[in-house]
Amino acid sequence: MKGMLIDTTRCIACRACQVACKQEHDLKAQKTRFFWGDGFQNPPHRTSETWNLITFNDVKTEHGYEWVFGRRQCFHCNEPACAAACPVGALQKTAQGPVVYDSSRCIGCRYCQIVCPFNAPRFEWDKRVPLIKKCDLCADRIARGDKPACTATCPTGALSFGDRKTLLAEALARIKNHPDRYVNHVYGEKEVGGTCVLHLAKVPFDRIGYPAGLSNTPYPDQIKAAMSAVPYAMTGMAAVFGGLAWIINRRMAAGENESREEGGK
Ligand code: SF4
Ligand code: SF4
Repeated sequence: MKGMLIDTTRCIACRACQVACKQEHDLKAQKTRFFWGDGFQNPPHRTSETWNLITFNDVKTEHGYEWVFGRRQCFHCNEPACAAACPVGALQKTAQGPVVYDSSRCIGCRYCQIVCPFNAPRFEWDKRVPLIKKCDLCADRIARGDKPACTATCPTGALSFGDRKTLLAEALARIKNHPDRYVNHVYGEKEVGGTCVLHLAKVPFDRIGYPAGLSNTPYPDQIKAAMSAVPYAMTGMAAVFGGLAWIINRRMAAGENESREEGGK
């Protein structure tokens, strides 16, 4: 299984990775807004147009206040809660590691947003037929043997791509060889049963906005227990949403055909 190692101590917050992600996925630029929201990053939060966000954290250390950078994106959980909760299978964990999204199946119920421990899926609130948007770890690039666009772009080596096991060994070795430089924690090694995106940092992760105190138990195990309590309601809702999605998709397809036909006249 492939993965990504994000060594935040090597990040200079140039945000080349943020731009590369937008370019790769044809995502719109967002207007710069300062001093709005938590932290000093831009945009302030991830959105349906910004899937990866470099965060700027002003953290007090023994040297005084320092900028410590972090990164927010989909963690590509080994056992993803989003895929377990999706009633129509729009989110799937692939054998290579990425958790990918099939918009043609999505019914807009947003269960994936509710259950994701990292608040990764974003919803297109401004669209008439909104969809979920999130990092797909550049699954297409990985499938053809390339690195994700962000990793290929990073000028400092803060992002590495490869086999998850090799990256985890590398992360543990960096901590062992430079205990003065890192906190003794590879974020994603065990959280929610492990994730494909692993992080290193020089301060405890909760100080740069990473969710703290997550269980090491995969979320799907916890979700199954909760969902089994309401099986009939879930089944009924999935059927209703599935029907609505079918109607919406048919109408959209019919609309596209009409425009194509008009264009051809
Ligand atoms: S971080 Fe959230 S959206 Fe990404 S795979 Fe895990 S549960 Fe799914
Ligand atoms: S490209 Fe590399 S150094 Fe620049 S912001 Fe992204 S992770 Fe940090």
